[in-house]
Amino acid sequence: MEDAQSKDEEIVNEKIKVVLDDALSCAFCGNCEWVCPTLKIKKNRIYGPRGRITAILNFVRENVLTDGAVDAIFTCLQCGACVTQCPANIRIDEDVRTVKSYLINKNML
Ligand code: SF4
Ligand code: SF4
Repeated sequence: MEDAQSKDEEIVNEKIKVVLDDALSCAFCGNCEWVCPTLKIKKNRIYGPRGRITAILNFVRENVLTDGAVDAIFTCLQCGACVTQCPANIRIDEDVRTVKSYLINKNML
């Protein structure tokens, strides 16, 4: 039982490492923003891909998680539109999914 639990922890940690690598690869060029449906509606960059990457970076690297960051992460539709525009092939949709499940599983909401 304990072994299964530590295996799960290991998988989660590996996934979070991928998220951090992705977020650190972002050049913040903004190429991805124009296709993001939530940014179009909310008209605030926190609700676009760059805003979400910033929120993810602050959480994974600095352990900082504001209510606004949680809202930005959980309003992502994981539609993948931003991914099609990214020259660095950053999987924001997958990264958001990983962070959402991490926060839920760790009861951090
Ligand atoms: S297009 Fe890619 S590298 Fe540029 S801001 Fe968006 S996620 Fe970052
Ligand atoms: S996956 Fe999220 S950040 Fe990317 S375009 Fe869709 S709603 Fe926007």
